[in-house]
Amino acid sequence: MATCHGVEVVATLVAPFRARALPWDTFAPTTPGGLALPALGTHGASRRAMAILVTGGAGYIGSHMVLCLVRAGRPVVVVDNLSAGYRELLVEGVPFVHADIADGATMRDVIRERDIDAIIHFAAHTQVAESVRDPRLYWSGNVAATLNLLDAALASGVKYFVFSSTAAVYGEPERCPIDEEAPTHPINPYGESKLTIEQALADYARAYGMRYAALRYFNAAGADADAGLGELHHPESHLIPIVLQAALGRMSEVVIFGRQYPTPDGTCIRDYVHVLDLADAHMAALDDLRCGGDSGAFNLGTGTGHSVAEVIATCREVTGRPIAVVEGERRPGDPPVLVASPERARRRYGWEPRRSSLERIVRDAWAWHLREAAKSSHEPETRKAHAQHR
Ligand code: UDP
Repeated sequence: MATCHGVEVVATLVAPFRARALPWDTFAPTTPGGLALPALGTHGASRRAMAILVTGGAGYIGSHMVLCLVRAGRPVVVVDNLSAGYRELLVEGVPFVHADIADGATMRDVIRERDIDAIIHFAAHTQVAESVRDPRLYWSGNVAATLNLLDAALASGVKYFVFSSTAAVYGEPERCPIDEEAPTHPINPYGESKLTIEQALADYARAYGMRYAALRYFNAAGADADAGLGELHHPESHLIPIVLQAALGRMSEVVIFGRQYPTPDGTCIRDYVHVLDLADAHMAALDDLRCGGDSGAFNLGTGTGHSVAEVIATCREVTGRPIAVVEGERRPGDPPVLVASPERARRRYGWEPRRSSLERIVRDAWAWHLREAAKSSHEPETRKAHAQHR
């Protein structure tokens, strides 16, 4: 592991997209083939390539975001406290600061030293059930810590903030597809914590001129297996990775949380969106803000829903493996249908979730699971070593 002004530069990930581990002021964006990219700043705000801070860049969505930024030749630095992120998801060559976003002094130093003008903020607790059990984690880790980060950002002149929000801000919606004008009534501390920060951002934008986009994800899924990135959570609670673990034989069966919902096959319907499409939307949101686009909230989904039973059927088809299912109790707080209207993001950003067919999502996620399974069969200690990686 090299260091650069006290910042770790990760050199572990085998990926064809090797960012150059250079001091910030000499960073020259290059394509993987080494061709010079056009100078950044075509948005008119600046001709100079300002750096982007990604908090939570060692997590599932954050790591894919970093990959996209590196592929686009954008200077990027990652901050992660590794409480829910993994060193193995850090993208090679990208400066990494092992710190907590609540640590204002460190955040101010990173922002100033790395010449950061924009933050894409993923670092957060994201488990709904945990938020009900232990809400303090969410008020402290998601709300208070983000307010500290915003203080550091304002004190250091950061102009743009892209916030990882969630469809959970809508709670149990009255109608679907859900557009951004739908009432926000979160039904758990996780959704409340995200909505609270959205409200703070609206106030800060009005009072201090910071510009922001709050991106409300529906169901993030999929992977970039070629780059060694995928959905890694401990414990795992999300449907697609759980079904694929069953396909790998790591679980004997999948429990379907309720089969008597008012949907065509009785199972819940969700809007699954490929994690690389999510990353594209963040990039588009940032470019839009830098072009002078208005602050606001945007849904990121496809507009099409799939039931739990359909997801399992697609997983059977893609993997070619049997997957046993049993019916279980409903999970508290699960609305029958959650489907986005992504029209606002489409119109404003020209965003198209083009990788988000269910088949493609499952195929990409499966490729990553197979890769991980092969890795752990060769290196049986890898999984056990997770705690040490943190
Ligand atoms: N689900 C399920 N069994 C599982 C995990 C999830 O039936 O083991 C269902 C869950 O009730 C929901 C859908 O799959 O209807 C998607 O759940 P997930 O946790 O992936 O995302 P959420 O929609 O809760 O954010």
